Amino acid sequence: MSIKDNLKTVRQSIPSHIQLVVVTKTMPVASLQKAYDCGERIFGENKVQEIIQKQALLPSDIKWHLIGHLQTNKVKSIVPFVEMIQSVDSLKLLQEIDKQALKHNKIQKCLLQFHIAEEETKFGFNLEEVKAVLNHIKINPLSNIQICGVMGMATFTKDENQIRKEFRYLKSIFDILKSEYFIDNEYFKEISMGMSGDFELAIAEGATIVRVGTMIFGERNYK
Ligand SMILES: *Cc1c(COP(=O)(O)O)cnc(C)c1O
Repeated sequence: MSIKDNLKTVRQSIPSHIQLVVVTKTMPVASLQKAYDCGERIFGENKVQEIIQKQALLPSDIKWHLIGHLQTNKVKSIVPFVEMIQSVDSLKLLQEIDKQALKHNKIQKCLLQFHIAEEETKFGFNLEEVKAVLNHIKINPLSNIQICGVMGMATFTKDENQIRKEFRYLKSIFDILKSEYFIDNEYFKEISMGMSGDFELAIAEGATIVRVGTMIFGERNYK
């Protein structure tokens, strides 16, 4: 199947009010260009070096989302062009993003990443940690940051009940944060969850953004 056909299939299972982030990590620029030519404009990468290289070679109306772990010292190299940083997992990172966004006179959109999977390796906050961060910035506001919602990755498993449970948990975190911190905030509205194997479950459980790579481009080769 071609990228075009795959995209058509994926698009057919995603309601139009839900955002599709086309996950392009490890894929060559020519493949991104194909997705672009099919009309896709939101691309997600998980590595800073790769997102910088690719954005320089591709059309400027692409909305780039960083979806992988971000080190504080690399914030300054991506803030000038990224639409959204989905993988915020510390106060220190939020503060640095704010500082760099101020320098570039922009408001940087971010999501708070949560650890919802069973695997140890995945980054992200838990509810208690995020409340400490949000309490802190309530008193010390960050003027150049817009926290637009939450992001998470479910356990890599075939067990649908497990996956559903984790998506529900992320949705419940969103609801708690919305009511306790963002009740009058129109920007806090996104729940980014669901990948190639589970995006339909994620949509059923309340996702507003899904992040799909393999189903569009085929298996990745990390070599
Ligand atoms: C790679 C990646 C995806 C896409 O995964 P696929 O299974 O290829 O669709 C989604 N989200 C994050 C954070 C990723 O790193």
